[in-house]
Amino acid sequence: SLSERLESAFKQIKGEGRITELNVAATVKDIRRALVDADVNYKIAKEFTDKIKDKAMGEKVLTAVSPGQLMVKIVKDELAELMGGTEAELNAKGNPAVILIAGLQGSGKTTFSGKLANYLKSKKFSPLLVAADIYRPAAIDQLKVLGGQIGVEVFSEPENKDAVDIARKAVAQARTLNKNVVIIDTAGRLAVDEAMMTEVSNIKAAVNPQEILFVVDSMTGQDAVNTAKAFNDRLDFSGVVLTKLDGDTRGGAALSIKYTVNKPIKFISSGEKLDTLDVFYPERMAQRILGMGDITTLVERAQAQFDEAEAKKLEKKIRKNQFDFEDFKQQLEQIKKMGNIKDLLGMIPGVGKAIKDIDISDDAFKGIEAMINSMTPFERANPDVIDGSRRKRIAKGSGKDLTEVNAFMKQFEQMKEMMKMMNKMPMGRMPGLGGF
Ligand code: GDP
Ligand code: MG
Repeated sequence: SLSERLESAFKQIKGEGRITELNVAATVKDIRRALVDADVNYKIAKEFTDKIKDKAMGEKVLTAVSPGQLMVKIVKDELAELMGGTEAELNAKGNPAVILIAGLQGSGKTTFSGKLANYLKSKKFSPLLVAADIYRPAAIDQLKVLGGQIGVEVFSEPENKDAVDIARKAVAQARTLNKNVVIIDTAGRLAVDEAMMTEVSNIKAAVNPQEILFVVDSMTGQDAVNTAKAFNDRLDFSGVVLTKLDGDTRGGAALSIKYTVNKPIKFISSGEKLDTLDVFYPERMAQRILGMGDITTLVERAQAQFDEAEAKKLEKKIRKNQFDFEDFKQQLEQIKKMGNIKDLLGMIPGVGKAIKDIDISDDAFKGIEAMINSMTPFERANPDVIDGSRRKRIAKGSGKDLTEVNAFMKQFEQMKEMMKMMNKMPMGRMPGLGGF
């Protein structure tokens, strides 16, 4: 992966006492190769590494820092710069604000539209989703399902074969319904073509959007950059959304797009679940690329799922040593809502690489859940009553071995012991199982 390649590039310079022209040149060459292999355009990679070289040589007087660390910092800063430097805000001000979503078919427009509506709703906006993909009847249903899941109204006119007209009516409807932001999901095609471009351009002209977000599948590498260029030439969009970053992407798209179209990446999407949308922070992405983890995003995801009242209740129970299996189950639910487990673990510095080849599915908790589900409510609330015969029944009910149930019960006891100990500590605050 790009992270690994960069890491080994840094190795060259790590043991060195100081930065010299020779060791910088070797490191820089490796970095350039790593970038090109990750689908970064050669010209961009070259310009990037030339900059790194200049900076590194310029700082050779700094002998206090180890050359390896200095190099990593320079590369991190430059990577962030290449991806836009600082985060770009979404403009959702208007009466209503109109956000037009464009991109190829399958890039993730409809999914993103749902995620964005969900995101804006959590920021106290009242969004209206608009189904302007008139070519596939299933597209309307897809958006309606998403809208239903997040409690956001969807405007659609299944009989209307004029996307521009639908968009226009939707904006008028939003005013009537007191919605302050309209998200228009449009049709895409498998490749850039004139009909699609004309249609989106016409919608743009008709509704005068505050934002035009170009959605692109990050797994498509160089193609992503070419598509971005084609859309930008016609639409002059205001921001980019990179999707499918949870997949086995080589990272090149994130690195080249901003440079190529000079438009900021505003969001990244990393999963099919509706809450796996993140604002794009160049600095954090640079850290991720360098295998430094992304604790900030992890904490934010946790906070988004974090119910203050529930947390208080839980803390009380832990303090009184009353934490039971029902609480345990709820905690698991909360962790699961934060998104794909592997993706989450990968945000912890150093862990991403370690678990890269391990298959951690979202079903990681299934066994535990099955065991808890096989307990009666009484047992869940009173773990102490779960004796040998009850364990046998739980094993049977959950399809697990008795040894597995015993091991789980033991783990649970140990966890409670730990909570007890933490309660005795002066500042013994236990923020819950998530540990965030
Ligand atoms: P559209 O044709 O541009 O509207 O694309 P869709 O929103 O229908 O998405 C196409 C497929 O990609 C669907 O199966 C989605 O579930 C999936 N998808 C969308 N965004 C993501 C993402 O961030 N990660 C993953 N893994 N799949 C995604
Ligand atoms: Mg769609």
